[in-house]
Amino acid sequence: MTEPLFDTIAVIGLGLIGSSVARGVKSRGLARRLVGYDVSEEVRARSSELGFCDDVAATPEAAAAGADLIVVAVPVGATAKAVEAIATHLKEGAIVTEVGSVKAAVIRQVLAVLPAHASFVPGHPIAGTEHSGPDAGFAELFDGRWCILTPCERSTDEAVAKVTALWRGLGSAVEIMTPEHHDIVLAITSHIPHLIAYNIVGTASDLEQVTSSEVIKFSAGGFRDFTRIASSDPVMWRDVFLNNKQAVLEVLGRFTEDLAALQRMIRWDDGEALLELFTRTRAIRRGIIEAGQDTPEADFGRPHGHEE
Ligand code: NAP
Repeated sequence: MTEPLFDTIAVIGLGLIGSSVARGVKSRGLARRLVGYDVSEEVRARSSELGFCDDVAATPEAAAAGADLIVVAVPVGATAKAVEAIATHLKEGAIVTEVGSVKAAVIRQVLAVLPAHASFVPGHPIAGTEHSGPDAGFAELFDGRWCILTPCERSTDEAVAKVTALWRGLGSAVEIMTPEHHDIVLAITSHIPHLIAYNIVGTASDLEQVTSSEVIKFSAGGFRDFTRIASSDPVMWRDVFLNNKQAVLEVLGRFTEDLAALQRMIRWDDGEALLELFTRTRAIRRGIIEAGQDTPEADFGRPHGHEE
């Protein structure tokens, strides 16, 4: 049997991402011991029942004390607070990492509370679902996905190597980039798509000439896929937009310009321009499938047969 990568890992925040990390660490033997903590008493009780931690601590201090690696998996707006709560209990040489969907703002906030004897490796697994909470997690969530690490002034080479080994152990491929670049890339690939989904579902629910029962009945026309994204955790996404303000507004500026151009193409019957754009976007979808980031099944693989 191979040696575990870490002696003790603490996971702070036992929702979708934290409980998936915990499950993956346990099932792949990446730590000798895994301790969990969540601010919610209900989540702590449920996590104990589900049994994906060796121990669920009653306080953040108790979870972090003695841990070699602390994985903070709470909403972006609560990350620095969670690090502050464990700061004086971190052991000498402990590595703190986190999984937030925004990097530059989180790094700034965490560096202000991180004690001198610990190192910090910010990260973001590009994997998730629209579900949250400890029941939503699963060990294979990160399999075949990317994890982006955005080292900062408190990331030692050794700590980056160890956190890289953790994500590889969980089945992910690791890419390193600057926090600012991460925030722009994710603004276009994740944050703006979520904003569009929240917006279109909001518009549909406000549209007076269309009844809400029609919106539901005829949703397979494309709307349904937006509703899946727009059902994502409200707290998580509020924090993403408030903390990635600059990149989101920058990309949103480009997006609204392009939308205005589309509006013009429709108004002036410019079918050629519409066709050119829709052909170009089809190729992007093919690229995603070829890269193994989605399956080619029609309608996202939804079952359509009449199974008895
Ligand atoms: P989640 O399922 O809502 O879990 C977050 C958990 O953290 C909740 O149980 C929450 O408790 C708890 N929490 C909040 N503040 C805390 C604190 N100070 N100390 C300890 N626990 C605390 O959210 P998630 O989807 O796992 O997201 C966690 C992080 O991963 C976020 O930063 C998000 O940006 C990032 N991320 C998410 C996805 C995704 O698809 N969901 C993908 C990649 C990265 P309460 O509910 O009681 O507040």
